[in-house]
Amino acid sequence: MNTPAERMVAEQLRPHGVTDERVLLAMSAVPREEFLSPRMRRHAYEDRALAIECGQTISQPLVVALMAQAAEPQPDDFALDVGTGSGYAAAVLSRLCRKVMSIEREPALAEHASATLKRLGFDNVEVAVGDGTLGWPANAPYSVILVAAAAGGVPPALVEQLADGGRMVIPVVIEQEEPQDLRVYERRGNYVGYRSLFPVLFVPLRTG
Ligand code: SAH
Repeated sequence: MNTPAERMVAEQLRPHGVTDERVLLAMSAVPREEFLSPRMRRHAYEDRALAIECGQTISQPLVVALMAQAAEPQPDDFALDVGTGSGYAAAVLSRLCRKVMSIEREPALAEHASATLKRLGFDNVEVAVGDGTLGWPANAPYSVILVAAAAGGVPPALVEQLADGGRMVIPVVIEQEEPQDLRVYERRGNYVGYRSLFPVLFVPLRTG
C-alpha cells in the first residue's frame, strides 16, 4: 500500500520535473497533513497551496520540491529557510541537509511550527522569530537558502550569508507585478549569478 505522500510523489512530482531521488524520498517522508489545521487536513495532498494561520499559506508540494531540487542540497549542508510558515518546507529540507535554521516573522506561526517539528521528530531544525531579510548571521554561511516569500530584490544580508558555491532559491517581484520570477542564485567567490526557474505566486516578504 502506498501512503498518500508516496502517491503525491508518483502523481504530482515525478511527472512534473522532480527527478532528484533524495528530494522525492524527502517529500514522501514528510506528512503534509500534520502541518495543517484540522479542518484543512482532508486537502493535504491536493496539488496546490493551502491556507494556514495568520493569512499565510503552505506552498504547493510541487513548488517546495522544485525549490529544494534547485538548491542542490547535500547531506552535510547548513540551510537557511526564510518564512517558516507551517514548517513543512523546513521539514523537507531537514531530510536533505545536516541542519536547518528557519526564520518566521509571525510569532504565532513560529511557535506552532516549532512545536509541530518537535512532535514529529525533525530535531535538526531550529525555528526563530525575526526578520528573515536579515538572515541568521550567527550560523552563516549557508550552502542552501530557501526563501518562501517574494521580495523586490534579493536582501543583501542573504547574499552575504550565502556560502561560496552555495545556492539560494528566492521568488523575485518584477516591476511590481505578479507572477514573480523564481530564481536560483549561486555564489562563486565574489561573483553571484542567477538563473530563472519559472513564474510563481508567493506572499510578500515583509521588512521591519
Ligand atoms: N515555507 C512555508 C511557507 C510559508 S509562506 C511552509 O512550508 O509552510 C511565507 C511565510 O513567510 C509566511 O509565514 C510569512 O509570515 C513569512 N514572512 C514574510 N516576511 C517575512 C520576513 N521578513 N521574515 C520572516 N518571515 C517572513
